[in-house]
Amino acid sequence: MKKDKKVKKPGEGVLRAVSNALFLLKIALKASPFITLHKLLATSKNRIIVFFEHTWLLGFMIDCIAGNEPFRKPASVVMLMFVIVCLTVNVFDNFVNHKYDPGECLKIDRAIHDMVYTKAEKMDLRCYDDPEFYDDFVWATREAKNQVYAVINTVGGIIGNIIGIAINGIYLMTRDGLGMVAVLVSFVGSFIISFWLNKLWYRLDEEANPISRKLSYIKRVFYLTDHAKELRLSNVKERLYRDFDAACGEMRALRKKRTLKICIVNILNNFFFRDFLIQGVYLLYLLWRTIVKKAFSYGTMVTLYNSCNSVSGSFRSISYFIPKLQEHSLYIEKIRHYLDNEITVKSPEAPLPLPESGDIVLDNVTFGYKEGENVLDGISMTVKKGERIALVGYNGAGKTTLVKLMMRLYDPTDGVISYGGTDVRQLELDGYRDKFETVFQDYQIFAATVGQNISADDTPLDAERAREACEKSGFARKLDTLPDGFDTPLTREFENNGVNLSGGEAQSLVIARALYKNSPVIILDEPSSALDPIAEYNLNKTMLDIEGEHTVITISHRLSTTKTADKIYMLEKGRIIEEGSHDELMRLDGKYAEMFRLQAEKYRAQVI
Ligand code: ADP
Repeated sequence: MKKDKKVKKPGEGVLRAVSNALFLLKIALKASPFITLHKLLATSKNRIIVFFEHTWLLGFMIDCIAGNEPFRKPASVVMLMFVIVCLTVNVFDNFVNHKYDPGECLKIDRAIHDMVYTKAEKMDLRCYDDPEFYDDFVWATREAKNQVYAVINTVGGIIGNIIGIAINGIYLMTRDGLGMVAVLVSFVGSFIISFWLNKLWYRLDEEANPISRKLSYIKRVFYLTDHAKELRLSNVKERLYRDFDAACGEMRALRKKRTLKICIVNILNNFFFRDFLIQGVYLLYLLWRTIVKKAFSYGTMVTLYNSCNSVSGSFRSISYFIPKLQEHSLYIEKIRHYLDNEITVKSPEAPLPLPESGDIVLDNVTFGYKEGENVLDGISMTVKKGERIALVGYNGAGKTTLVKLMMRLYDPTDGVISYGGTDVRQLELDGYRDKFETVFQDYQIFAATVGQNISADDTPLDAERAREACEKSGFARKLDTLPDGFDTPLTREFENNGVNLSGGEAQSLVIARALYKNSPVIILDEPSSALDPIAEYNLNKTMLDIEGEHTVITISHRLSTTKTADKIYMLEKGRIIEEGSHDELMRLDGKYAEMFRLQAEKYRAQVI
């Protein structure tokens, strides 16, 4: 029967492993060539020093003693060696490692960070809904930095050990080739056995994987803040402790069962292919050639023996580093897969001039997050410059999706959106998005000062304008209670005196941020959901009273907040089912009127 060909995982194969290693090395070399080369060549330098200082020098000194050479001969060589080693290892390495390296490594970290996050920032928002992309993204952020140093270490290790084999090998071959034969037999033998050992370890890992996952889940529950409240308020921790003990017991039993075989194979491997062959057979051969045949001086014998051990050690290191390179490759492959994600929502190569401001026109726009499942279906509408419009409808009607399309966070599957008469896909993306300021339901407060949260960029805060924005959004009440005003740090992430805002306060701060930015279009997605009734009333008044020619688009399912909009669009299942002013829609007596009356009754019932 024909055997199934083993399917390679992405990243497997020597060539791909080399290409993946080079991919990260190039980034490190570009960011800091000196430090990358220094780290890459560290093992090579050590192998050269070890050969001259520990192998050759020892033999030379023994021969000087045996040959009754004058003291100054070995002493001058020892002094020369001492000066060279002291200068390269002690002075140079210490200077580089402790003075230069910490700062330069930050450059490498920065380059890696830029590579991952620049891509993340430009990625289509759609990708964040794709679990495969998200998985790669988390891998890339977590692993990219670790992998770059791991690759430098591994490649440096391989280069260094090749150099070690070359120097010692040349010495062995010129003096006595048999040493090299002993090393090669020992290497091939232990290489074959190491495959067997790797299989045994892999089987153990595979069997231990479900138990490790259970253990790490329980550990996570104990340290993640998400679970902190439940852990304190319920007895679930008792069960978790029990599960943890049981999983530890299972892991112990599994290791006990599997590790005896691994241990025996290791002992036999070391015995036959290291101790017996080199420290036994080859050493006896050297003694015989030196004492009986007088073929080597004492110094040469010692040097040959040490060289043989060094070559053997270098071969072992290479057989450790090559699988490591393969292991890194699997990680790097995922990082590259993430970086290869194609960006579709992007600026055109030759963008058309960006209009200062203008109408937003949607012409027969259709969109779905997944193929064949339309969330918006043939939407046509014109939002005039300076108009205050409201998008209303029940949850899931498509209101938020509609504004995401207007801001070009997604592109429509069908139809055209234009701004000031130009298809938005023909405009420079960042400049176009800058026309909008948005307060989403899932708004974010940054761990920075109140002022920085309002200005949301590097420019110095215009305190007068910021104060005005806070008054309009209702944040001024809270601002007046903060001892350091705009300089008060928010969140306790980095500052012990940081302030944590309530939901309503945070929301009014984010609205102040939107008002401060002074963009032509302001979008408020459920802006009043966390506000109390008075703050809600004030906010609505503010939004309608904003001076100038701002277009304001409000999304709400509380119809009392949108009553005064110039135009209201009622959405249902991704379609506009009614449009007009509040009075017009009430007169129409359709779905909007029904929803409005239902909410008014509910509100009255709550008040009574
Ligand atoms: P609304 O704002 O009216 O509550 P949304 O625009 O948020 O409605 O959602 C419209 C539909 O699209 C809902 O069925 C929702 O589940 C779906 N939806 C929203 N965001 C995503 C997403 N990122 N991926 C897949 N489906 C989504």
